[in-house]
Amino acid sequence: MQQTLGAGGSRRLLKRLRDLMASSGTGQERLNQVARIIAADFVAEVCSIYLMRAGEVLELFATQGLKQAAVHKTRLRVGEGLVGDIAAHARPLALSDAQSHPNFAYRPETGEEIFHSLLGVPILRGGRVLGVLVVQNRTFRDYEEEEIETLQTVVMVLAELVASSALISPAEMQRTEGLALLPVRLDGLRLNEGIAIGRAVLHKARVTIRQMVAENAAAELTRLRQAVTSMHSAIDDLLAASGFAEGDEHREILESYRMFAEDRGWLGRIADAIDTGLTAEAAVQKVQDDTRARMLQVTDPYLRERLADLDDLANRLLRHLVGETSAATAELPEDAVLIARSMGPAELLDYERRHLKAVVLEEGSPTSHVAIIARALGLPMVGRVKDALAQIEPGDPMIVDGQNAQIILRPGDDVRAAFVAVMEAQAQRRASYSALRDLASVTRDGVAVSLNLNAGLLVDLDHLEETGADGVGLYRTEIPFMIRNSFPGVEAQTDLYRRILERTGGRPVVFRTLDAGGDKLLPYLERNVEDNPAIGWRAIRMTLDRPLLLRQQLRALLRASAGRRLDVMFPMVAELAEFRAARAVLDLEITRAERRSEALPTTLRVGTMLEVPSLFWQMPALLREVDFLSVGSNDLVQFLFASDRGNARLADRYDVLSPTVLAFLHDVVRQCDAAGVPVQLCGEMASNPVEAMALIGVGFRHLSMPAVAIGPVKAMLRSLEVSALSCYLSTLTGSTDRSLRGRLRAFAHDHAVMI
Ligand code: PEP
Ligand code: MG
Repeated sequence: MQQTLGAGGSRRLLKRLRDLMASSGTGQERLNQVARIIAADFVAEVCSIYLMRAGEVLELFATQGLKQAAVHKTRLRVGEGLVGDIAAHARPLALSDAQSHPNFAYRPETGEEIFHSLLGVPILRGGRVLGVLVVQNRTFRDYEEEEIETLQTVVMVLAELVASSALISPAEMQRTEGLALLPVRLDGLRLNEGIAIGRAVLHKARVTIRQMVAENAAAELTRLRQAVTSMHSAIDDLLAASGFAEGDEHREILESYRMFAEDRGWLGRIADAIDTGLTAEAAVQKVQDDTRARMLQVTDPYLRERLADLDDLANRLLRHLVGETSAATAELPEDAVLIARSMGPAELLDYERRHLKAVVLEEGSPTSHVAIIARALGLPMVGRVKDALAQIEPGDPMIVDGQNAQIILRPGDDVRAAFVAVMEAQAQRRASYSALRDLASVTRDGVAVSLNLNAGLLVDLDHLEETGADGVGLYRTEIPFMIRNSFPGVEAQTDLYRRILERTGGRPVVFRTLDAGGDKLLPYLERNVEDNPAIGWRAIRMTLDRPLLLRQQLRALLRASAGRRLDVMFPMVAELAEFRAARAVLDLEITRAERRSEALPTTLRVGTMLEVPSLFWQMPALLREVDFLSVGSNDLVQFLFASDRGNARLADRYDVLSPTVLAFLHDVVRQCDAAGVPVQLCGEMASNPVEAMALIGVGFRHLSMPAVAIGPVKAMLRSLEVSALSCYLSTLTGSTDRSLRGRLRAFAHDHAVMI
């Protein structure tokens, strides 16, 4: 039987530590002894103590069991590896199979590959993380709750030892001059994933104005007019050189930006400022200052975006006035990471693309135009990095980790090497996934599983070819609506949907009607402040109340699919009556099209999302009326657990791999199969190999996911034997565990499934 520490064990351990504290010896010696005592008392092969150094770097200070050569050498940044994860979240972590955890970071110098289980706790003092204490065992040990608590109590004593023995000088933690060059980690918001290593280039938006007061207002107005004309032609050149095709969303963004450049109100305000006696430059700056003041007050993301575009234009106009039009690209190093407070989409395009590696902004949001352009260009991007411009010096070496929304300034060699290794591994993985592209998506026992893409922008469709996906399982039509200035009419929509169908080269596309409202605001639609937008007036609830929107969208979809196949589904359907009402609108549009003798789709498949739990109890009747069903696990799971999908504090509370969710999904598939109705799952759940494995286990044969997930999921399913998994899952029926993740991982491990 596994030995655990009871209350008596905890007291004994604490007493030994207290004695040790009172003994003589250097801080380092006492730390070494602590590691030894804990390892022995805990019956663990390893006990390691990592302490926090300046720049949020965790350094291995003492170890019993790992290689001694790693002491003071192994360093992890906060957030990196399991130790970094414990420090980042300031919470314990107990894993019976640590190496299969996605955050496990292998450090060869420690020799830790032979230890399977890990229990780590943060060393906390006064609410600050001073370090992390970790015990490890060779076996797959399940640490008891009581053991975790004991270790937490023990580290309270250890925290005092660390604080009192000056193992790390307080000066270092206050970042004195010399030490300021230690690595610093800055957090932000993920605007585009990807990792880049490069050197900081501060985006110089502001032009120095030498003369504020004008002698001759008429001459200044002439200068303004000339500068506006040259700016217009430069923007036209930029548009032409952007490489975005006519009609692409990216092109539309730039075109709407160009329209601003002709905005009479804006130019009129500048002319008025010249009338008050300012030079043209000073007048532009005055209007720009007014715009910035408004930006500070406006919370509406759409309006902020427009004001940011105006800010960008003002910079551009200033450069034309002072004749500094090519400032942006001068002396750009080959590995430039652009740092800016905010930036307009066109400003980003001003830079030589070959030299740009990543972008870091103090502001910015995922729907900002510059972020959309950065995604189109494949540039990693982190936004909302507080005081980035104050903390980053030009030329600073840095790593931009878009995935984890962090930047590491002045990384040390070990951190850099760790990132290089991650980038190489990612490149290797991408290469191995692209090798899978043309291989059948079939399990080892011959079960075919269709893998499809989730998309929302035309650029997403490029991934169809490169991933070899079967089609588009979910086209979120609200995304193109969200980046426009006004509601696209039937013609514009028809054109967009037609282009989507043309780009997919005959592969099926499941269009989902508008899922807007709630928190997905469309700038041009009425808005209500709702207490609970996720369960508010959104999606089908909104479009059934505004049937013209739905009619126009369905009309456009019918026209775009004339002579082809059309797959359409409705979001957030909570009851059969809503599906019937939406279907009636579609039928009405078909009748009207027939009356006008318009060509119709050759095949029409009408389905619904299953993401509101209430619909489940009407499935028998529903399945007689739909052509397919698509499970939206993102919303479904948040409603099943009454747990906001966007709330970071709840992110780890419930697991999608709970017996409840799997039993629910199993029943959905069973009913669909019995009724002969195809069912797919298109939420994020399908994109993680373990979860996708579970979905296949409960019977799903159609999954839809973001492009990056297709390779890993395909690799997983090609190594899976479904019959063995189904058998195993049936033994878990009725389980009351909180999660089956551990068991499913163990299954994959035992059966060599690549998760
Ligand atoms: C879902 O809810 O799982 C889903 C696919 O829809 P969305 O994420 O767009 O709400
Ligand atoms: Mg949804």
